[in-house]
Amino acid sequence: MKLADVIAVLESAYPPRTAEKWDAVGLVCGDPAEEVTRVLVCVDPTSSTVDEAVECGAQLVLAHHPLLLRGVNGVPADDPKGALVHKLIRNRAALYCAHTNADSALPGVSDALAKAIGLTVAGPLEPAPADLPEDTGTGRIGELPEAEPLRVFAQRVADALPATVQGVRAAGDPERLIKRVAVCGGAGDSFLGTVQRAGVDAYVTADLRHHPASEHIESGGPALVDVAHWASEWPWCEQAAEILREAFGGRVDVLVSTRRTDPWTVGATRSAAGGHA
Ligand SMILES: [Zn+2]
Repeated sequence: MKLADVIAVLESAYPPRTAEKWDAVGLVCGDPAEEVTRVLVCVDPTSSTVDEAVECGAQLVLAHHPLLLRGVNGVPADDPKGALVHKLIRNRAALYCAHTNADSALPGVSDALAKAIGLTVAGPLEPAPADLPEDTGTGRIGELPEAEPLRVFAQRVADALPATVQGVRAAGDPERLIKRVAVCGGAGDSFLGTVQRAGVDAYVTADLRHHPASEHIESGGPALVDVAHWASEWPWCEQAAEILREAFGGRVDVLVSTRRTDPWTVGATRSAAGGHA
């Protein structure tokens, strides 16, 4: 298949016009006329995943996060991002990013997160603007088959996602019963007000900060379950890989990255011997 054929499938699954205005999605480097026999899907286009793509002979890296979100005036090889572009081009590999268009798609990033957790999705958390397809939008609301306490639910989330040093932390009464759940892959604290109005028992997202979380719990909002940003979006990789496998059968080999690109590498909690206070 040509790269252009793969891009056509990706743009049908994750239409670029549904991306946020500030976003930078699509082809970062690569020649649409060149052959693609192997694709590597990952969350982050980093030196680790680009090395992985070169090692496994992929001609296309499909990433969720943009490499060049802000404007650049060049891609010199002595710049970390420029070096990645050089490495990709020298190894005849393309980079394609599907970011907020993959968030709002059906299925999208939050569907993959909801499915991993075991939720049956009922609809979007924040519906897309009226000019975009119905049922799409950011985040999802879904239900567990049966209600369970927050402490059990948090463990369910931890067991559903790849391990990270942050692990999974929850805010709220550990015994609170959880059945109806909102999820948003990636940084979701801008939807704290929305989940409060959505009548859910818990909200699963990433990158929650002290003050918004504290004020949310103080005001009686749904329990919060905070996971690592990378882990929350990782289930999308398999979803995207499956879309490509279905479109191309055996003609394109589609791999999901095995590299952990969560930037946090050490997690420490206070030991019995720690401190002097
Ligand atoms: Zn993200």
